[in-house]
Amino acid sequence: MKVLKFGGTSLKNLEKFLIVQKIIEEKAKNEQIGVVLSAPEKITNYLVESIQESTTRKNLTQLNFIEKIINQFLFELKKNIPLNLLENLKKEINKEILNLKNTLQKISLLDKCPNELNAMIISRGEIFSVFIMKAILKSKKYDVTIIDPVKNLVGTGEYLNSTINIKLSKEKIKKLKIPKKNVILMPGFIAGNKNKKLVVLGRNGSDYSAAILTVCLEAQSCEIWTDVDGVFTADPKIVKDAKLLKNLTYSEALDLSYFGAKVLHPKTITPLEKFNIPCIIKNTLNLNNVGTIIKGFKKNNTFSIKGITYVNDITIFNISGLEKKEMLKVNSTFYSKKFQKKISPILIFPNSSNGDISFCISNKNVKKTFEKLQKEFNFKTKIKLTDLIKTIDDVSIISIIGNGFELKKNIYFKIFSGLQQNYINVLAILKDPFRSSISIVTNKFKISKTIQNIHDILFNKNRKVIEVFLTGIGGVGKTLLNQLKKQQKILLKKNIDIKICSISNSKKVIFNKKGIELTNWEKKFKNSQNLFNLTNLLNKIKKNNFTNPIFVDCTSSEKIADKYIDILSNRMHIVASNKKANTSNYKLYENIRLVSKKYDRKFLYETNVGAGLPVIENFQNLLNSGDKLIQFRGILSGSLSYIFGKLDEGIPLSEATMMAKELGFTEPNPLDDLSGIDVARKLLILAREMGYNLELSDIKIESLLPKNFNLNLNINDFFIEIKKLNTNFSNKVEEAKKENKTLRFVGIIEKNGQCKVTIQKINENDPLYFIKNGENALAFYTEYYQPNPLVLKGYGAGNNVTAAGVFSDLLRTLSYNLGT
Ligand code: ADP
Ligand code: ASP
Ligand code: MG
Repeated sequence: MKVLKFGGTSLKNLEKFLIVQKIIEEKAKNEQIGVVLSAPEKITNYLVESIQESTTRKNLTQLNFIEKIINQFLFELKKNIPLNLLENLKKEINKEILNLKNTLQKISLLDKCPNELNAMIISRGEIFSVFIMKAILKSKKYDVTIIDPVKNLVGTGEYLNSTINIKLSKEKIKKLKIPKKNVILMPGFIAGNKNKKLVVLGRNGSDYSAAILTVCLEAQSCEIWTDVDGVFTADPKIVKDAKLLKNLTYSEALDLSYFGAKVLHPKTITPLEKFNIPCIIKNTLNLNNVGTIIKGFKKNNTFSIKGITYVNDITIFNISGLEKKEMLKVNSTFYSKKFQKKISPILIFPNSSNGDISFCISNKNVKKTFEKLQKEFNFKTKIKLTDLIKTIDDVSIISIIGNGFELKKNIYFKIFSGLQQNYINVLAILKDPFRSSISIVTNKFKISKTIQNIHDILFNKNRKVIEVFLTGIGGVGKTLLNQLKKQQKILLKKNIDIKICSISNSKKVIFNKKGIELTNWEKKFKNSQNLFNLTNLLNKIKKNNFTNPIFVDCTSSEKIADKYIDILSNRMHIVASNKKANTSNYKLYENIRLVSKKYDRKFLYETNVGAGLPVIENFQNLLNSGDKLIQFRGILSGSLSYIFGKLDEGIPLSEATMMAKELGFTEPNPLDDLSGIDVARKLLILAREMGYNLELSDIKIESLLPKNFNLNLNINDFFIEIKKLNTNFSNKVEEAKKENKTLRFVGIIEKNGQCKVTIQKINENDPLYFIKNGENALAFYTEYYQPNPLVLKGYGAGNNVTAAGVFSDLLRTLSYNLGT
């Protein structure tokens, strides 16, 4: 024999009842089965609220909701069961609803709800479920025996949280002499006390009913059917990559459920463990899945982690401030089994040296706990009880369940430092001496993020996540997306999981927190109706749980750069090919660095100078190692490197510029290149890197364009105007050639911080002499590097190298990620 329990999630509507009926039919082919049913999803909540409503607001809206759900069942059942069964069912249900209405009116007059009535009211959902299932099974010609739990399950304890006496219940059920061919149905959640009054087993208690029925019927297994594939390493509704636990021992399952894994009520395990009966958790909507099997006892103590759970709505109590002698007395009472049973602490902190007592209880027990403390201790001291007790309310307990924690001492450090890095406030972290668990007491808000983080630390040890929020989809942005698309799978094999969570330009945005599929992003973007608004995007990011969100700025927008402070404060790294933040006023430059430090977020901009060349990193390393700059000279513009190379070959300036533009070497408007402003910006970035407090206006620029050149021309007019400069440039090139020199557009930083951008005639001994075709060269004349300078040379422009530079900055953020 087997006992199957179907939870509310499996009984939400008639469609689900019919799936359950199929499962019952299938199982009943082989053996007799007992079925325990919960209330249809939400009904118990409505019933709980109906009590609140009747005693306070005096209306019955919740009851209306319930009637609506039930009527829908009856309406749909017309097609599934014969009329006589339907009429009978209607009668049974109407009687229950009438009773319910009367009881609610009664408590409304009383202005309060005695627990006895409370238990009766909140258990009606289970009764509805059994009525409906009985009708369905009868329509399929099954003989059904209904076990009345009020008569047959002997409950002890409180009306709303009873425990069942197995021995007495088993005797009663044996006496029922249920025929072997019958399907047994029993409403979960309910039992009867010694006065034959209905009691309930605590919220979510149908699992416990199923375990009890399994033991009483001496069935071979207890199957708990729900809406997930089994017990996972964390609530799969919170942690998307939680892993299914195929096997658990009784004690592991008990600890997981005790500390909040709602998939199983904690009371379920003990009876099954006692009789060594396996419990199997299965998914009603995924019949082929093996589920989780709970059986067996504690294995040898090797280190393993099973899962992460959480309980919300917790209050911390602290009792302190008594004289030592009194405190000792309080301690001995507090730690007695009898008192613990009265207040049901979830977690007790280790006793401090001065005898302080701290423990966690559920918010709903706060009042009761105060009363019990008052009564029990009857403090004979002048200090008021309220002065001795401090509380912190509304915290959460996150627990890590596993074995052999003592073998892995660094686990506390790992968890703690991971949480610190994510600015998660840890109020306490402790090992429960009675359970195989570590618990972290933390603020309630950000609970999902915290669980996800701990899960990443413990289960995805080597997996590193990069979540890209890209803005700017011109040449560089688009190329970056292509490169990412190509590398995503390859990097995943190396445990680097890159997700592109948003793509935007100045007008539109597409967003997907799980990552946008890159094969057709352009189509999705084209069809998107969502307007881009950076503040909205940041709010969205704040609301969701991201592990390593990175804002990638491939625009040249000043407006976006102005938002970097907000972005960093939002706990995002920034990777920018956009130079504007580094080249606008020094105040912003400084603030960005302060904020990035404050929030421990990286601002990476390697592509700002020399595109893909590792300029900034090398330069920083040089300065950090104590080297001093004597002079810097560099060809910092891919476009001007290309153009000057072409001038060497006798190609006119206008044509060379056009060719550079077509190859993607120039800025969107080539005016920025020829005016020298782009080189000046790069020079400014390098100079600031050295600590010089300079503004762009401090850089002396010898532009390629005459002073009276109109800088506001559109691109077409620009190319017409620039033709007029061709002869002048050809002449200059010829003159240099006569001296065996060549012309190069060079950025220079002197030791005293003076910066200039100028056209220089240079000879072939100069490291910049052979630099052309879009290559950059940066020559650092330093105290360590002399007489020959350190020269970095390579393509310093072009979409591919720039995007690759942005890509490597993205990877560089990982050294700041969790778990490393
Ligand atoms: P039922 O109505 O079937 O009793 P519950 O809502 O009581 O269902 O329990 C199932 C839910 O438990 C799942 O939907 C899941 O969100 C939650 N849950 C919490 N922790 C876990 C976990 N570790 N593994 C699986 N499910 C979990
Ligand atoms: N219906 C009850 C509740 O919602 C019992 C259960 O579902 O297990 O708490
Ligand atoms: Mg449940």
